[in-house]
Amino acid sequence: MGEWTDEYDVVVAGSGAGALAGALAAAAGGRRTAVLEKTALLGGTSAYSGASIWLPGSRVQERAGIGDDSVESARTYLTALLGDGPAALREAFLDAAPRVVEFLESDPAIEFEWQAFPEYYDAPGRTARGRSIVPLPLPAERLGELAALVRPPVDRDRAGLPHDPSVPLAQGRALIGRLLLAFTRTGRGDVRTGTALTSLIVEDGRVAGVAAETADGPVRLRARHGVLLAAGGFEASAALREERGVAGSAEWTMAPDGANTGDAIAAAVAAGAATGNLGEAWFCPALVGPDGRAAFTLGFRGGLIVDGTGRRFANESLPYDRMGRAMAAATGPLHLIFDAKSRTAPAITIPAADPEAHLAAGTWVRADTLDGLAAAIGVPAGALAATVERFNGFAAEGADEDFHRGEDGYDRYFTGGGHGLVAVDRGPFYAARMAVGDLGTKGGLRIDPDARVLDAADRPIPGLYAAGNTTASFTGPIYPGPGVPIGTGMAFAYRAVQHMDSEERA
Ligand code: FAD
Repeated sequence: MGEWTDEYDVVVAGSGAGALAGALAAAAGGRRTAVLEKTALLGGTSAYSGASIWLPGSRVQERAGIGDDSVESARTYLTALLGDGPAALREAFLDAAPRVVEFLESDPAIEFEWQAFPEYYDAPGRTARGRSIVPLPLPAERLGELAALVRPPVDRDRAGLPHDPSVPLAQGRALIGRLLLAFTRTGRGDVRTGTALTSLIVEDGRVAGVAAETADGPVRLRARHGVLLAAGGFEASAALREERGVAGSAEWTMAPDGANTGDAIAAAVAAGAATGNLGEAWFCPALVGPDGRAAFTLGFRGGLIVDGTGRRFANESLPYDRMGRAMAAATGPLHLIFDAKSRTAPAITIPAADPEAHLAAGTWVRADTLDGLAAAIGVPAGALAATVERFNGFAAEGADEDFHRGEDGYDRYFTGGGHGLVAVDRGPFYAARMAVGDLGTKGGLRIDPDARVLDAADRPIPGLYAAGNTTASFTGPIYPGPGVPIGTGMAFAYRAVQHMDSEERA
């Protein structure tokens, strides 16, 4: 048995929202806790996110007077979408949701508010205006030197630019910043960046610690009470995506470059863990960028998306995971068609699109006529013209007879209340190349309601816990509403630490 480089009570792999929520719970409970982050920056995809957090029935919705939110209505909604198959994990999540919010808000560094953002399915239990909560922005000076460690917004990060200290941390970065502030203030937490978990160290049938790589060589870190794996999915691994049949591509994922390559899942599998849901991701439509990477695209205020036959195939304004799945099932190539009325793509793209760069790279093409556009993107001209003509008729009537765009509250959320049906009739015309993007995979380690990692015989592996995209999400192929990835990640990370507490008491 090798020497330990350092000894902790709890070791957390990853530094996204789930990881830091779990680390805070452990450290606030007096445990010496290490957060290991492979890259030089903290927060992962969670830092890029909008930080909508789906934690139903909490005091935040109650404060805001969201009368149709409750644990019961959330149960009705989840059951309508997922059936009773994942009942045990669903109940564990619903039980933890209000409690994790109460725990987090008991720290003066953490404050949430409710945000109107419709859920993604018209199903029983859906609330009228959504139930997700968001963290309040955080002035960078409150974080001090730690602010430089929080991953910058995706547009700056991809350009290699640091965080702009004059701007308060908002959305995902506010969440990461607030959790980090609370964690470091416990005086029981160590943050170790540039430290990549490579394997789990098992002693006498229990996970006793981790092995990790650092710039100074390998380290062995003991974890007396448990290891929590919350190190994202495998979205950035082209090989694993192909092996597991995940739509899209490692190039088109929104995760930070090179971060989430399935390391924690592989380490646990080597220690006997079972996996599930491996073909799944939180999908989204994406514009292919001039550099080959993709931009999360939603909120279509105009334009229409056509497949390789020149036809529409779905309501473009579907909640993004559902549209991503429709795109995965469609015959490519896929293009967003719009006209000169829009100076750029008539949608929200993250990062923002630079039309000139797209045109120069050929990821967008421009033509004076629709026939010219059809020729440039290789779709039948007659079909494209007929599609646009029919769409323009819907725009004139204000009703999409084919796909019902604009009829659901979600469709109108990003469009300022409009149905988003705008005639494509003023040249020059544009076609922007689209792809199936994702916000992370959601297949991985199977866990029990206490976030304990299970082996192939459904037995918990002692000392090993997991949360977030490192796990097989109980939502299967469904993305129920805004904030489910982060909300479920935080809830199960919290349960993991609670289970460590109960083991200690036993
Ligand atoms: P991450 O947040 O990606 O964290 C994983 C971390 O683990 C990374 O920092 C990575 O470097 C690190 N890591 C990987 N391997 C190792 C290793 N071997 N050792 C140590 N560290 C390792 N979801 C929501 O719920 N609400 C939203 O509002 C929302 N908005 C989004 C907006 C955008 C633009 C994007 C891109 C995503 C959004 N999502 C949202 C999705 C959500 O951000 C992610 O699915 C979620 O944050 C993933 O959390 P995670 O903790 O599993 O992984």
